[in-house]
Amino acid sequence: SIVFIPREVATDEPRVAASAETVKKIVGLGLEVVVEAGAGLSSRIPDADFEKAGARIGKATDAKPADVILKVRRPTDKEIKSYKRGAIVIAIMDPYGNDAAIAAMAQAGLAAFAMELMPRITRAQSMDVLSSQANLAGYQAVIEAAHAYDRAMPMMMTAAGTVPAAKVFVMGAGVAGLQAIATARRLGAAVSATDVRPAAKEQVASLGAKFVAVEDEEFKAAETAGGYAKEMSKEYQAKQAALVADHIAKQDIIITTALIPGRPAPRLVSREMLASMRPGAIAVDLAVERGGNIEGVEAGRMAEVEGVKVIGFANMAGRVAASASALYAKNLVTFLETMVDKQSKTVAINHEDELVKATMLTHGGEVVHPNFGGAAV
Ligand code: NAD
Repeated sequence: SIVFIPREVATDEPRVAASAETVKKIVGLGLEVVVEAGAGLSSRIPDADFEKAGARIGKATDAKPADVILKVRRPTDKEIKSYKRGAIVIAIMDPYGNDAAIAAMAQAGLAAFAMELMPRITRAQSMDVLSSQANLAGYQAVIEAAHAYDRAMPMMMTAAGTVPAAKVFVMGAGVAGLQAIATARRLGAAVSATDVRPAAKEQVASLGAKFVAVEDEEFKAAETAGGYAKEMSKEYQAKQAALVADHIAKQDIIITTALIPGRPAPRLVSREMLASMRPGAIAVDLAVERGGNIEGVEAGRMAEVEGVKVIGFANMAGRVAASASALYAKNLVTFLETMVDKQSKTVAINHEDELVKATMLTHGGEVVHPNFGGAAV
């Protein structure tokens, strides 16, 4: 089988779906690899490195004969037309609310796989793109905040006086939030955090941060079997808002990461809360692509809201593209490997595999994923 890795067409996407290491791995599995010229440049991977790893450097039109296309973003309509029927396309598909795009992939006869739907089970841990990318996004959120902050992060006691430690509050202590806590702690900040899942409490404490939350009966039941948060009741949200409002007024930097799978991001920070912060305060909203946790956040830029710099950069992991691509490519190749028949050196879909069932959006001309209107096959 032939595996094609294109250069991403979205201008705001610096990541690439392969690294020299993963190309080597795919070639080692007996498959042929074609990488579009320049695909890795924004992730600091020159064509020569892909070539050395065993890939052929090609053009966008090399997508046509490919049996497998590995991508970062969901293919555009134009890209879909450049693939052959029956091709396997694996990417971060952003499937929720994008029914038309899913239908287009079905109509083109593609077997489209959404990496972000990978189940969070031990076997699939090394294929978990939400974790690999959120971890880097959490790190980068703190770096961006530190850069925009006009004060030093750690406490410094000098002959000329003392600089106090920055107070950082992280809202949502999942993968991104926990890394943001760890990074802010390494920079010497005084860190606190909140989440609606009770399991987060211990994880926050183990990183040396203070846990702040309304811990009522609803909180104790807020985690789903999959480990994700539930959407909280209006009553809980009001109680939580009152508690965090007092806390936020004393913070220098807030970093929000709260998401609920398949739902808009919960609104956690109001304009009023921002207005209570002191001059020079910073807020970073990692949930901006899902509507944002912070009122007034603007996707793709730093906005000034009630005197607070609110950072709404999209694709935060893409701002550490070289690291993000390396981990994403590894996630992809680990998944691809489960589909390779080592004898015949071809890729085949095992419809019985739970990873396939969880991630396959379209197949054989149909939408097959039950969450998106398909009848599971
Ligand atoms: P996520 O990106 O879906 O959400 C980020 C965080 O926001 C979550 O911790 C969530 O509880 C929190 N949140 C939602 N609503 C909130 C609100 N109103 N206020 C405050 N916080 C709110 O979550 P994630 O980072 O993908 O992680 C979810 C869980 O899955 C975590 O427990 C994580 O450790 C776990 N996980 C498990 C595996 C595995 O077992 N293989 C892999 C990755 C993550």
